[in-house]
Amino acid sequence: MCRRGRWYGSFGGGGLYHVGGFDANATCLSSVFLACTAIVHRACFWYLTRPIWSIISQGIGSDCLMTSSTTPSKPARPVTPPVPGLIDFTPWARKLSLALAEGVPANPESLAELDRPALADALLRDAVEHRATDIHLDQAARGLLVRLRIDGRVVDAAVLSSREGERLINQFKMLAEIPPVHLFTPISARRSYSVEGFELDLRLTAAPCLTGQSLAIRMLHPENVEHHIGDLGLSKRHDDQLDEWLRNLNGMFVCTGPTGSGKTTTLYALLRELKQHDRRIVTIEDPVEYQIDGINQIQVNERHGLTFAEGIRTILRMDPDYVLVGEIRDPASAQVAGQASISGRVLLTTLHARDVFGAVTSLRNYGLPVHEIAAALAVVVNQRLVRRLCANCRQEEEPTEVDVSWYEALGLETPKTLWYAKGCSECHHLGYLGRTGVFEVWRLTERDYSDILAKVDEHTMRERMAEEGHLDLLDDALTKVARGITSLEEIRGLGHITPYLAGK
Ligand SMILES: [Zn+2]
Repeated sequence: MCRRGRWYGSFGGGGLYHVGGFDANATCLSSVFLACTAIVHRACFWYLTRPIWSIISQGIGSDCLMTSSTTPSKPARPVTPPVPGLIDFTPWARKLSLALAEGVPANPESLAELDRPALADALLRDAVEHRATDIHLDQAARGLLVRLRIDGRVVDAAVLSSREGERLINQFKMLAEIPPVHLFTPISARRSYSVEGFELDLRLTAAPCLTGQSLAIRMLHPENVEHHIGDLGLSKRHDDQLDEWLRNLNGMFVCTGPTGSGKTTTLYALLRELKQHDRRIVTIEDPVEYQIDGINQIQVNERHGLTFAEGIRTILRMDPDYVLVGEIRDPASAQVAGQASISGRVLLTTLHARDVFGAVTSLRNYGLPVHEIAAALAVVVNQRLVRRLCANCRQEEEPTEVDVSWYEALGLETPKTLWYAKGCSECHHLGYLGRTGVFEVWRLTERDYSDILAKVDEHTMRERMAEEGHLDLLDDALTKVARGITSLEEIRGLGHITPYLAGK
């Protein structure tokens, strides 16, 4: 009767509940009994009322609620407006917009008027309208915080009462077919969902936190991969360098930068260019974030032995012209990728490295000999993402003391004026609208290959390249600041690009 980790007993007739190894007094047992009863009741309630929820979903919000679509490739059901007079999605969305714009919490009382399925749907619509990539429902002392990640930054959107917050979380769980009683263990689910004619790929993760249940919703939007190279924010010179590589396709194209720096977007933009050629493209990714029509994408599955290294070996037998490897993350994948490039395949990949020259060091650390690196490496890009200043409300002003001291610390001349974020209705009073990349592009030359073979250190290579007019990350960042594309505050936020380059 008393196996650890499992509950036994009859229900509803004064049944006995035993916890393995737990010797309790009557009060404790009573508490345990009540807790068990509550859990069992909730579980029963969920399973018994599941058909009713289904009817509610289908009857009230079926046009907007895709509760059972498990295959993202399934065509989206058309979004039709709700029945007039029955449900109005806009009050919530308007309140949320207002809260976002004015920094005031939405009124929790009025939300109770809205039907449950409308809440999650309206929140998703609002998030899409505000270009959010993630929705976070976080428990706090004052209630449930609704937060949106917009242009890489988390923005507080609204505060709900705990009761409303619980309803909202449960509604998202229904949408993802996660039983609401699933309270004490983390759980993830993936669903497609149609908003405004777009098919969103939702990834929901619910986790028990000390303050209560928290829910993170990642919204993968197909538009995010439809960037052209011209949209990335490359300077004319960097654009020419990539263009030259695309015209003389060879070797390994490596994109470096921290997580969330837009590396995948850059590689997908290159794939779009390559798709225009009459060639075959195969990718191995972990995870496959976006499905691209006409490209063979393989998902890493280490549990079944499909690692990056094994995936590359498989791809090479599939007669590819171009190979995309999501990430080189171990010696095995580095060596297979290196050999593939040397054998004449065009290979695009990402790598963790501090800057473009750090890519050579990383490959060496993964055990690639310098003669293989010199033979394989063609282009290395290092990049970051910064927010774009809203062109409608940015203002040119004299630099603040903080900005002046930043320039002085780097030994650079301070500009007479700088552009600053202000905020207007167009940018939802954030001062920024969209993001752009800051880049360093290294198209390797014969001299660079000689240096790699001679094992010249990174610092010496960088000094030589600087003398030859190489534009690094800071150069590109300061150009974008001077042109008012982004603010110095955004560049300062990148932090670690500057100390390394101090005193240049
Ligand atoms: Zn603005």
